[in-house]
Amino acid sequence: MLELNFIRANPDIVRADLTKRNDQEKLGWIDDLLEIDKKSRDMQVEINQLRNRRNVIAREINDIKKAGGDATELFKEASNVPKQIKEMEKGLDEIKEKLNFYLMRLPNVLHESVPVGKDDSENVEVKRWGEAKVPSFELKNHGQLAVENEWADFERAAKISGAGFYFLKGNLVLLDMALQRFAMDLLVKKGYTPITPPYMMNRAAYEGVTDLSDFEKVMYKIDGEDEFLIATSEHPMAAMFKDEIFEEKDLPLKFAGISPCFRREIGAHGLDTRGLFRVHQFHKIEQFIFCKPEDSWNLYTDLLSNAEDIFQKLELPYHVVSICTGDIGTVAASKYDIEVWMPRENMYRELVSCSNCTSYQAVRLNIKVRDKSDFKSKQYVHTLNSTAIATSRAIRAILENNQLEDGTVEIPKALRPYMNNQETL
Ligand code: AMP
Repeated sequence: MLELNFIRANPDIVRADLTKRNDQEKLGWIDDLLEIDKKSRDMQVEINQLRNRRNVIAREINDIKKAGGDATELFKEASNVPKQIKEMEKGLDEIKEKLNFYLMRLPNVLHESVPVGKDDSENVEVKRWGEAKVPSFELKNHGQLAVENEWADFERAAKISGAGFYFLKGNLVLLDMALQRFAMDLLVKKGYTPITPPYMMNRAAYEGVTDLSDFEKVMYKIDGEDEFLIATSEHPMAAMFKDEIFEEKDLPLKFAGISPCFRREIGAHGLDTRGLFRVHQFHKIEQFIFCKPEDSWNLYTDLLSNAEDIFQKLELPYHVVSICTGDIGTVAASKYDIEVWMPRENMYRELVSCSNCTSYQAVRLNIKVRDKSDFKSKQYVHTLNSTAIATSRAIRAILENNQLEDGTVEIPKALRPYMNNQETL
């Protein structure tokens, strides 16, 4: 969420940003927002004056009574003032609700480097790594390969849970665990603290971390409870310090979340019914940082380079794309994706998303840092997140990139120590 102070002081920056996003609807909100913000402040002044008047009248009545005078007129006024205050407070609440509606929905202000574009077709490649090989034999579809080797069962999962679910079996369970442990070990060596979060979170906390439309499209709600299954450990890690104040010396805080992720994928194209690319449930190791505002752009580079380190060690070819204005969503000020080469489709597909959310989540969650030189002064922290590894897509990338002609699959060397030094699946 943007700070109201920021919008008041910089309406042109906010308008220019919405223009870059080509978001005409929200652009139309700004004049109304500024007007009702002014109205709410004027009303607050009037309410304060009325409260003050109420106290003055009480004193005056006392004085008149003490002097044996007639306070009838003042009694009349005294009985009216509370009614007036009540009415004005009601009006103010309505205005504040509308203000909050706008504030909760306006997107973050984008970093100047974000490319302007209408949708994901205009994301910009900024780097390539590794050789995107074209196979010399016909690759088997990863889902088919997994079923043939009894590494996965999609049909029985569909029977009991629906399309988009899967049983992993045997070697793929071990590969899934190896990927998680490998990524976690790498992050721990870099100073990240492992975190297993709660797998459910209530609405108030959830509204602090995500785009409101995600409630319909992404999250599973637990029937009869104010709880949602988490879509990523980013969300509980971000909300963990809701309404808290950090001391400067305690930042940056670097976490490596490990959790299953649950996604409804409503409206997403191509739910993978016999494969592992777009599914309702997968495991993910997620990097998450709370930091001082001045440190966030350097730490953003670190997050991306940690994720690149993982894919280089897994020897999977990838490119990095800078996500454009039409594809970036509301929370991030800048976002890079790592897309890994999928030789069967002959294209790169997203495996990592790395974002600097600046103070957007912190304002919503009310998370601040105290200035060490001035005890009273506080500012909102910045939050950053990046996938380290999302296992189901990584498994697919390995089954395709490392598939040999006889149908076996080479295990990346970096994972072998986690798989009893086995060389192939
Ligand atoms: P996100 O938290 O949406 O930025 O996603 C982070 C990463 O999780 C993506 O880059 C993918 O690797 C993975 N991911 C997201 N959605 C799915 C899904 N439905 N099925 C499998 N993996 C997913």
